[in-house]
Amino acid sequence: MSQPTETPQPLEHLDETWQRMLCVVAHPDDLEFGAAAAVARWTGQGKEVAYCMVTSGEAGIDALHPDEARPLREQEQVDSARVVGVDVVEFLGLPDGVLEYGVALRRVIAEVVRRHRPDIVLTGNFRETWGGRNLNQADHIAVGQAVLDAVRDAGNRWVFPEQLTGERSVGTLEPWGGVREVWAFGSPQATHAVDTTDSFDAGVASLEAHRAYIDGLGWEDFDAREFLEGMARASGQRLGTPLAAPFEVFPMGWGE
Ligand SMILES: [Zn+2]
Repeated sequence: MSQPTETPQPLEHLDETWQRMLCVVAHPDDLEFGAAAAVARWTGQGKEVAYCMVTSGEAGIDALHPDEARPLREQEQVDSARVVGVDVVEFLGLPDGVLEYGVALRRVIAEVVRRHRPDIVLTGNFRETWGGRNLNQADHIAVGQAVLDAVRDAGNRWVFPEQLTGERSVGTLEPWGGVREVWAFGSPQATHAVDTTDSFDAGVASLEAHRAYIDGLGWEDFDAREFLEGMARASGQRLGTPLAAPFEVFPMGWGE
């Protein structure tokens, strides 16, 4: 943890010259804990944003069997996405809680990247902690690492070539090497941020759409606005705006 007397590191403004974004995260609700207000800003600028959930978060509610939790959480995610202007939400259906980093995970994510052909891929923090001693979760770490690799895989026609032959139900895909950067929200090593002052309310409403999940956690006094505002104010101070969402930026080109 940094000392309170230390001046926090300034954050740079994110590049906003792109048009298509694909968000790939482990669970429904992940994006709403740090990225939704930024997404609302971007859809408001006319950018295209699609969500892809690797699992349906079916193991996330202790009192609910996964068969009951799955449709509930998928519906909450679809509703939550709509609040911030996102109409495309995909669920890959991998098992919640037991994701493994590896070729199998890279393969399914590369396929999604090849279909959506994004300029920017957004994922969640995949560092060991959230800063301090709060440990990150295994699925988040596996997905973030696989996203970085899958973005490169997607551009190589000799990696997962079966996706390019037209034998799959998705039809013939082409390699896609057009991803400029991968952004990880919530990273303790954030370098950049975006001003979310005007889109902050939409971000709060987006998190509030996960009502069954939040109630299921037993956080009786959880206040979505208060929670998100604390984080957004701290980042805003580092960016020079009232509120902001921080991201760690991974350039995907060469020579950077
Ligand atoms: Zn999660």
